[in-house]
Amino acid sequence: MTRDQNIEEQYRLKTQQWLEDNLDPLKERKPFSTLHWMPSKETEKNHHNACQQLQMKLYEAGFAGTTVPTEYGGHGGESWMQRIFREEAAGYQVHTGFYHSIISMALPALLKYGTDNQKREHIKTLISGEVSWCQLFSEPGAGSDLAGLGAKAELDGDEFVIHGQKVWNSAAMYADMGILLVRTNPNAHKHEGITFLLFDMNQPGVEVRPLIQAHGAGHFAEVFLDGARCHIKNVLGEIDKGWGPARVVMSNESAMIGGAAGDNPSQLIQLSQSLGRNHEPVLRQKLANVYSRNKLLKLMSDRISIAVRNGQMPPIHPSIVKLFVAQNRRIEGDLAQEILGAAGVVTSHTASEWAMEVLHSRYPISIGGGTDEVHHNNLGEQALGLPRDIRVDRGIPWKDIPKG
Ligand SMILES: Cc1cc2nc3c(=O)[nH]c(=O)nc-3n(C[C@H](O)[C@H](O)[C@H](O)COP(=O)(O)OP(=O)(O)OC[C@H]3O[C@@H](n4cnc5c(N)ncnc54)[C@H](O)[C@@H]3O)c2cc1C
Repeated sequence: MTRDQNIEEQYRLKTQQWLEDNLDPLKERKPFSTLHWMPSKETEKNHHNACQQLQMKLYEAGFAGTTVPTEYGGHGGESWMQRIFREEAAGYQVHTGFYHSIISMALPALLKYGTDNQKREHIKTLISGEVSWCQLFSEPGAGSDLAGLGAKAELDGDEFVIHGQKVWNSAAMYADMGILLVRTNPNAHKHEGITFLLFDMNQPGVEVRPLIQAHGAGHFAEVFLDGARCHIKNVLGEIDKGWGPARVVMSNESAMIGGAAGDNPSQLIQLSQSLGRNHEPVLRQKLANVYSRNKLLKLMSDRISIAVRNGQMPPIHPSIVKLFVAQNRRIEGDLAQEILGAAGVVTSHTASEWAMEVLHSRYPISIGGGTDEVHHNNLGEQALGLPRDIRVDRGIPWKDIPKG
């Protein structure tokens, strides 16, 4: 064994020991557990708090922010450490919910565009879970067409004064900070007059109204900004040039959602076994299909995340994994219902409730982080070089674009 192999082996043993001492193996958890099946505000809050505790625990142990430079509060490690952790943690619940999401989105933008002071101030508290962040991008009239956003920020001395509304902001009701996009130059073309702010949520002029979904979940909020303020030292990148860091956030968001392969295939196999249906040839083919697609997704998203961690361009366009995960959810949800038959719509039965949750999950996953249609456009234009989507607002100052 070479010296390097020896060091990696010691790290693997240390990781295994920590996981064994600190977390419950997944196989000891109840199968078919649901999160969004008739949840209450309390269950979601408890889940968010538990994710924060886990994020803090992982950080303390060196398993979060592993490769982030030490001067910004990271552990200054190397990417093979993350690979080993990922391999060893596969059998454990290490997902930290929206903490994982926002770190995956905001950290690369902070590392690329942040000033030294911004990195020192925000990275440690972000990766350690000490401070909760949210993403304040979408607006009622600007989701797919995000660059059309209209929340207005005007300079008053060294501070921006902000008026506008954001919507669909995941976990904003728990957030202390937000990554916020605002319109700072209405005379410029729509992509050019946007500024990216690191925004303090705990101040007058910020009203967070939780949104309750049809099935009771309260994942999102809408955020009203009425005279809220943000010092110019909290501009990420340059004033009016926020589209650059916003694109970094969005492409990491696609990769992050694509990385949420989940373990539906193993649950589907277990379900078909429990009903004695795992010998049916057609069903076996469908199980093999979901299993293979899940493995393919994991391999593709691993390739993207390794490249991102090494500061390289992703070898695959992130829209591919975003579209692939949404397709997988549709196939998995249909199969769960097919296996259960009429029992698939029975409530108060864990497997049925799980199957309904998988069935419904096709909607959020194919909308959040950009809809399927928008990602098809991205792939057509950016990966395949097809003619661009028709844009009637091209070359027009944002203020002159007709708005609904
Ligand atoms: C689970 C989840 C979490 C989210 N979290 C956040 C968050 O934390 N922060 C945040 O800011 N936002 C968040 N969002 C909002 C999300 O980014 C938007 O919902 C999404 O970008 C779509 O925008 P929209 O809802 O305004 O739909 P619209 O843009 O109004 O789209 C409506 C329909 O028109 C189609 N369409 C629009 N333009 C085109 C086009 N050019 N070509 C073809 N079809 C088109 C769309 O595909 C869609 O089917 C979240 C959404 C979900 C579902």
